[in-house]
Amino acid sequence: MDLYNVISLLGKGTFGTVHLCERKHNSQKIVIKRISINLENGDEINVAKNEVAVLKSLNHPNIIEYFDSFMKNGTLYIVMEYASKGTLFDFIARSRPNRFQPQIVMNLFCQIVLGLNHIHSRNVIHRDLKCENIFLTGLQGDVIKIGDFGISKILLNNKNAHTLIGTCNYVAPEICDGKPYDSKSDIWSLGCILYEMCAMEKMFDGTLSNVVLSIAAGRRKVIDVHFYGVQMQQMIEIMLQIDPNDRPDTMKLMTLSDVFPSLHVLGTNLGCIPHTYKFNFSQH
Ligand code: ATP
Ligand code: MG
Repeated sequence: MDLYNVISLLGKGTFGTVHLCERKHNSQKIVIKRISINLENGDEINVAKNEVAVLKSLNHPNIIEYFDSFMKNGTLYIVMEYASKGTLFDFIARSRPNRFQPQIVMNLFCQIVLGLNHIHSRNVIHRDLKCENIFLTGLQGDVIKIGDFGISKILLNNKNAHTLIGTCNYVAPEICDGKPYDSKSDIWSLGCILYEMCAMEKMFDGTLSNVVLSIAAGRRKVIDVHFYGVQMQQMIEIMLQIDPNDRPDTMKLMTLSDVFPSLHVLGTNLGCIPHTYKFNFSQH
């Protein structure tokens, strides 16, 4: 901590506190997440080690950057990029009662898809994708970064992550059934987020049992298709398929006709998208 000045407390999470700090030598603002480690609790140490490992393996403009980590007196310090323009949750809250233009939604969505594609391509599942864990940054607040991998887990070959820790509003049906997480569980959450960016309200609200009942009853709210277009609605629907196999992966999402042009605008290298993915909405 000798290298940093603490500026303020940003908040307390499940595993520790988050401070806004600055590097002494160049005044660069960074975030330090402190996690107290119970050295006798193997699970806790693993969660912490996991967060570090996950962050270390990721490097993408739409992902919060990991800088450093160190242990001191049973506390793990994780130094990461500071996102100065708040979260997508805040952005939606302060924009109400207005709604976002379709191009804005698509731009935000594409950035999330690009970040998520990077995560999934590294065999990582986020497991708690929600508007509170998507950060805004950049001078105009128009750069999206996925953050908070505190409870994500590197996917092992046997896809072993079972525990329900994610926020219940975005939780996929297979997780409610006690099945293991996989990358398609993040796609479910992404569908909820896309709906929320169009409707400015959550797809599934209330307690875990309310959410589970709504999902089981097939209750789905629809967006204003006159304003956002039928394709946007179809995109939400395919991400909210009960069977994870029926949900598109991030690569498929990137080839959709609504998404593809927005990726161009973002200046993405489209050469990496295989042309073999021809996605057809009528299949679902
Ligand atoms: P949970 O433990 O369930 O994730 P949480 O998100 O409230 O809960 P933290 O992730 O510890 O807890 O974050 C605490 C606060 O710090 C939140 O308000 C979050 O928005 C903010 N925060 C976390 N990381 C960053 C970051 N890189 N840049 C800016 N703010 C951040
Ligand atoms: Mg968090």
